[in-house]
Amino acid sequence: MDEKTTNGLVIHGDRCLGCGLCIPVCPFGALEMVDGVVRVEETVCTLCGACVEHCPVEALELIRHTRKVADAAAWSGVWVFAETQGESFHSVVYELLGVGKGLARARNAILTAVVVGDRDESSMAPLFIQGAERVILAAHSDLAAYNDEPFARILERLVREYRPEIVLAGATAIGRALIPRAATLLGTGLTADCTGLEIDPESGNLLQTRPAFGGNIMARIVCASHRPQMATVRPRVMKALVADPLRRSGQIIHYTPSSDDLVCRTRVESIISDATGDPDLTSSEIIVAGGRGVGGAESFRLLKELAEVLGGTVAASRAAVDAGWIAADRQVGQTGKTVAPKLYVAVGISGAVQHVVGMSSAETIIAIDKNPSAPIFEMADVGLVGNLFEILPPLIRRFRELKSTGHTGSAKEIFGEKSMDFQKN
Ligand SMILES: Cc1cc2nc3c(=O)[nH]c(=O)nc-3n(C[C@H](O)[C@H](O)[C@H](O)COP(=O)(O)OP(=O)(O)OC[C@H]3O[C@@H](n4cnc5c(N)ncnc54)[C@H](O)[C@@H]3O)c2cc1C
Repeated sequence: MDEKTTNGLVIHGDRCLGCGLCIPVCPFGALEMVDGVVRVEETVCTLCGACVEHCPVEALELIRHTRKVADAAAWSGVWVFAETQGESFHSVVYELLGVGKGLARARNAILTAVVVGDRDESSMAPLFIQGAERVILAAHSDLAAYNDEPFARILERLVREYRPEIVLAGATAIGRALIPRAATLLGTGLTADCTGLEIDPESGNLLQTRPAFGGNIMARIVCASHRPQMATVRPRVMKALVADPLRRSGQIIHYTPSSDDLVCRTRVESIISDATGDPDLTSSEIIVAGGRGVGGAESFRLLKELAEVLGGTVAASRAAVDAGWIAADRQVGQTGKTVAPKLYVAVGISGAVQHVVGMSSAETIIAIDKNPSAPIFEMADVGLVGNLFEILPPLIRRFRELKSTGHTGSAKEIFGEKSMDFQKN
């Protein structure tokens, strides 16, 4: 193993002019001037390196040493944690197999789906159809319902035995509970909510991209010193492969959980599937979302009517959720859900980056806003500029008419000549 060297910001006092140019540049206030020489508060410095390039005399130096994995060659393969949903698998599993296939190809490795639950071999076909080359199945009747302790322990045991290089899971409620536990047990790193995953052709490391600093930058994170490299990805961010119905089977490795594996201090009494009873946003094909412009809970009725006539479901920006107009599980965006519907109607939503990051994969975006300069129009396919309370009622009526005659009109026909048509970049 390479020598372990401490990362850090080194200040070459002999070169520092005491000009102070670096101090306001630090976003964390970690630098101060002491006796004419800059000093760093190490507990505050995040090693972002912003100060380094601003020093005119190269008095600041960022030391980043990566400790190589001792037995890197012993770790091989890409794993996808196959979260079950009743008798089937969560849709994110197929999306992870889609991205996992490319990663496995780049590493010349095998793509494996790992199933923990009360399942049998016969229900593994969807995993093979969607790209898995191998399945590891840890089946037991005690594992019928998800529970942190036994699931994390079993995943840890499997990782220690088979040594995959990469482990992916959905950033679902279960994935977010399980993967940090497993990563801690394994003493490795985890990058949550990745929006991009690729292999660095030089080092072979997994490059994990995710929004950081409130969505203002995209950070690229590398787990260079530990294995496996673990990441979660939100549903609807990656694309599933085209299903291959001829590939219904493949190698299945059975793991029999021991009584130690199954030890658990908590018990699942019952599962309440959905607090609101509304359809799941992440799998909705048509979404009508409202923002602060909607003005109140009562006005969301109009959006519900539009969603109903379109056969869709209602969502919201964080501003609307924070105002208490709609339930938190309806929020789209960085701290809400990521959606990729066929149609997204944004009503009274300005298009802040933290919102857009959750819906930019929608196939068609219609924006309704009274401000023609609202950023949402930059990404909309169709823009309607005006007061939503004047636009929505006739729009709902028009869709009802079209629906009753079984007609589907063009955007111009439905919205009229006043609509702004935008070409997506
Ligand atoms: C760390 C962090 C995470 C965040 N996560 C999220 C997230 O997950 N999701 C999210 O949405 N936001 C998130 N935000 C908040 C985000 O930055 C914005 O504040 C929020 O998206 C704004 O919501 P909005 O577009 O509804 O409101 P506004 O930005 O206030 O926009 C309201 C729009 O309504 C229009 N309007 C007003 N009245 C009418 C009318 N009568 N008819 C037509 N149009 C009208 C206005 O012109 C305006 O464009 C996050 C912020 C931070 C810092």
